[in-house]
Amino acid sequence: MEYQNLSYASGLRKFKERPVHVTCPRCSQIADQKAGKMRKDLSLECPYCGLDFLPSECRCIGG
Ligand SMILES: [Zn+2]
Repeated sequence: MEYQNLSYASGLRKFKERPVHVTCPRCSQIADQKAGKMRKDLSLECPYCGLDFLPSECRCIGG
């Protein structure tokens, strides 16, 4: 529910500590990832299928 306010919350300073919902490009499962990793474009690991991917490769962030 709180993620509906993400666009407005993105200006907040604590944003990097918050989990972000990312849709896996392979299995389409949604997992929480660390916003700090996303901002640095570090690789993320899908907990469902184990795929490593970069935030910049995924267009389904924030869903
Ligand atoms: Zn996956």
